[in-house]
Amino acid sequence: MKELLVASGNKGKLMEFAELLQGVVEKVLSPADFPGLPDVVEDGDTFEANAVKKARAAALFAGIPVLADDSGLCVDHLEGRPGVYSARFAGPGAGDADNNALLLRELDGVPAGKRGAAFHCVIALCRPDGSCETFDGMLPGEILEAPRGSGGFGYDPLFLVPEYGQTFSELPMEIKNAISHRGRAMRQLKAALSSREGAKAQR
Ligand code: IMP
Repeated sequence: MKELLVASGNKGKLMEFAELLQGVVEKVLSPADFPGLPDVVEDGDTFEANAVKKARAAALFAGIPVLADDSGLCVDHLEGRPGVYSARFAGPGAGDADNNALLLRELDGVPAGKRGAAFHCVIALCRPDGSCETFDGMLPGEILEAPRGSGGFGYDPLFLVPEYGQTFSELPMEIKNAISHRGRAMRQLKAALSSREGAKAQR
């Protein structure tokens, strides 16, 4: 693929996508390359709806293929909340500390063994004709009763990965990126793009 826009204002995500897409996309562009790119309200009921909404609006505007993602934490005891509201769980303008504090309050008294949760990520790839495909990644874990570790962001300090006995905040970044919901969705995307580029090269 010649050019692809990653519709994210998050520098970390832009870099991760650019690195992942090396070899399958000639030029990865960012919103800074498209002044006036419309801002999209993430009001979908699912990660997929939000990712598609962002990527489709940007692809129609930019006239090239666009990637966008949406992610969040779904907690079993809370019937999947905060889900698509993960970033603003504690209200509009809430920060990570507020969201984590609310999560601990909502799980107060819930015993270990009933504190299951999963991070989800959906990446949407949309084209200027409005057609889209999506790639899903998920990682199950448990919510601790108190934060552990200093790395990462969001709910990382409360999210225990049982196989490693460590939270996302304690795990080295390379391991988090390799096993995370986002890493899993990204690998699916890369496999799909690579197989298409390979097929084109053989034609
Ligand atoms: P977005 O997909 O960047 O909009 O992320 C939504 C929200 O989900 C973030 O603000 C975090 O609260 C939460 N979240 C998503 N991925 C992670 C993660 O890898 N670690 C911790 N929190 C996350």
